Amino acid sequence: MNFLERDIQSIWHPFTQAETEPAPTAIVRGEGALLFDENGNSYIDAISSWWVNLHGHSHPYIAERVSKQLQTLEHVIFAGFTHPPAVELAERLLKVLPENQKRIFYSDNGSTAVEVALKMALQYWYNIGEERKCIVAFNNSYHGDTFGAMSVGARGGFNRPFESLFFDVKFIDIPEKGKEENSTAQLQSLISENKIASFIYEPLIQGSGGMNMYSASGLNTLLEICKRNNIITIADEVMTGFYRTGKLFASEYMTTPPDITCLSKGLTGGTMAMGVTSCTSGIYNAFLSSDKSKTFYHGHSYTANPLACTAALASLDLTEKKECADNVKRISDAHIKFAKELENNSKVTNVRHIGTIVAFDIITDGQSGYFNNISSYLKVEFLKRNVILRPLGNTVYILPPYCISNEQLQKVYNAIIDVLNLLK
Ligand SMILES: *Cc1c(COP(=O)(O)O)cnc(C)c1O
Repeated sequence: MNFLERDIQSIWHPFTQAETEPAPTAIVRGEGALLFDENGNSYIDAISSWWVNLHGHSHPYIAERVSKQLQTLEHVIFAGFTHPPAVELAERLLKVLPENQKRIFYSDNGSTAVEVALKMALQYWYNIGEERKCIVAFNNSYHGDTFGAMSVGARGGFNRPFESLFFDVKFIDIPEKGKEENSTAQLQSLISENKIASFIYEPLIQGSGGMNMYSASGLNTLLEICKRNNIITIADEVMTGFYRTGKLFASEYMTTPPDITCLSKGLTGGTMAMGVTSCTSGIYNAFLSSDKSKTFYHGHSYTANPLACTAALASLDLTEKKECADNVKRISDAHIKFAKELENNSKVTNVRHIGTIVAFDIITDGQSGYFNNISSYLKVEFLKRNVILRPLGNTVYILPPYCISNEQLQKVYNAIIDVLNLLK
């Protein structure tokens, strides 16, 4: 049996309907923005391998740092023990996160970073003896696949089988440009009728929900209202962190900082799984007590894994270089030009751009959104052109690693135009 047949015999892939989707592509090597299959064909990774990769695949600097750490300390229990990479990473993240963020809690991935944030917020109210349990989130949001994260995400779609088990969440609309007052009114009315513990949001762009972008000033107004009402705000920067929106964190576009921030995906440069939940000293202090029931009893076996911390430190070194900021600007400028070109294309609508992400919708006669079947067709056509893109239904987006060259970026744009020309 070849490699692919063995895969098909033994593996259950994520977010994949094995009955109808084509066999996976076997990747054996990565370098820069390229991934290579068994036969030596190369593909441009235009979605940063599900939004995790920042500086390219198998980056030699990250590889060297992680391999050194691997020979020094691979892992140690993080309750009652600590180690240099964890401390250094916490200090460096606190230096660059919004100024009010004072504590770092480590976990394993984006979903756990969100679970930790929600539990911190809910237990905060328990610990200070105030009854607040209701959580507010945006319609159409995505915060991960564990139960808490699913509860605060869009209902229906991915989560229908579990819906009856979710906890109480109230949903409001994202503050789209020109419709900001809508969201403000929805939030105000929820506040007047409920005891709201927390508001969780993907700042400025909803990723899995279809790359929906919205107004920074509109979000800032919502954050101010939350602040006035002592509602704990949670910025889920799992996708937006580390320059995806053009700034290091999307929260920097607003003047009101969040109380809690969730990071993952780009955190280790795309090398290993790791989650971070940062919070204010106000939240942290509410857990300090001689009463044991106020402890945050949450942790994962691999919390603050030294290899993951080291990968994150190495990735931060690269992220903080001028070259990275220059690349982000270069990609953003190229996207702006491409977006202009797309706007004149009669097959697309709703062209949008922020930082290193550009997205548009293909006009179809089917339903729009994730379950539009056109995505399977498009994915295959892009792959035939040696470009990895994974449309969300009829929404096509580019979210590349920052090392992508102008030539590679142009190939991605060309592949998109080429595939658009195939459509009726
Ligand atoms: C991907 C994502 C998550 C979940 O992260 P995982 O590491 O896949 O569990 C949470 N929030 C947002 C905004 C995401 O894009």
